[in-house]
Amino acid sequence: MIDIKQSCPLIAKSQAESYTSFSYQDLTFNQDCFHIFAGLNAVDSKQNVALTFAALQRHDLNCARMGVFKPRTSPYSFQGLGKECLPYVFELAGKYGIKIIAMEVTHDQQIAQIHSALKSSGYATGVMLQIGTRNAQNFELLKAVGAQQEFPVLYKRGFGITLEESLLACEYIAHAGNQKIIFCLRGMKSQFASPHRNFVDFAHVPIIKRLTRLPVCIDPSHAIGNNDTDNHNIPDIFNVSAQGIIAGSNMLLVDIHPAPHTALVDAKQAVALSLLDWYLEDVRICRESYLRRLKICSRVNA
Ligand code: PEP
Ligand code: MN
Repeated sequence: MIDIKQSCPLIAKSQAESYTSFSYQDLTFNQDCFHIFAGLNAVDSKQNVALTFAALQRHDLNCARMGVFKPRTSPYSFQGLGKECLPYVFELAGKYGIKIIAMEVTHDQQIAQIHSALKSSGYATGVMLQIGTRNAQNFELLKAVGAQQEFPVLYKRGFGITLEESLLACEYIAHAGNQKIIFCLRGMKSQFASPHRNFVDFAHVPIIKRLTRLPVCIDPSHAIGNNDTDNHNIPDIFNVSAQGIIAGSNMLLVDIHPAPHTALVDAKQAVALSLLDWYLEDVRICRESYLRRLKICSRVNA
């Protein structure tokens, strides 16, 4: 297995500091926290951004995801609205009390575009730069998000590379100067994944926490990729969210949409806003169960 201390000294667990803890926009990120980033896979209209943020606010959530620059498999697919939509996304975020938006960047120029739109909005919100799985080894992009200190980075594990290679990619970000990194599990491309879109890798949540100092995120939407339900009518997305959260994940990145069948990207995997109440209750139960598991563990090991 990986000799992480040797290959990735900056992100590896060390005795001096058991984990990375950083604050951004008054929120703390470390291996104990739990934050929910729900939102649009791809921004499609101002109205859907407003409906989504309003639903999050009703549920006391202050983080979101919003895809603006979309890496698509086909050049004929919708590529995202790009920088034109940033002004209303940031303005509405401020209006609905959203403090951080996770947003993918596919090119280093987009970092400056985000910075400038945020400034024009009077810093109405904050942004966490997402490195998508397709850019997991785009070393120039990794160096670019690492060379700036303004935004934390949500790094998505490469879907077809080894865990060590993904960890080395995070080491690139840290080596370039930015230690505010979160490691996101989102499933692996595999012929054995079917009927899911990707092979769910949430059993690796505790492994990443053991090997590294990084907070760990799960993305059940990209792992599952559909809205199938089990024989009790519980969506597969809820079931794998439960697995990742009860194993101690620190962040949940999930696609939601006011009208999933109209979504322009990954429509099948979006959780309808009408299911948000149920989903969040399920999430809460799992997080509480994880905390109870920790208590029992400390009692047994006292
Ligand atoms: C996304 O989160 O919008 C996305 C494209 O995810 P991934 O890079 O994991 O495919
Ligand atoms: Mn996608």
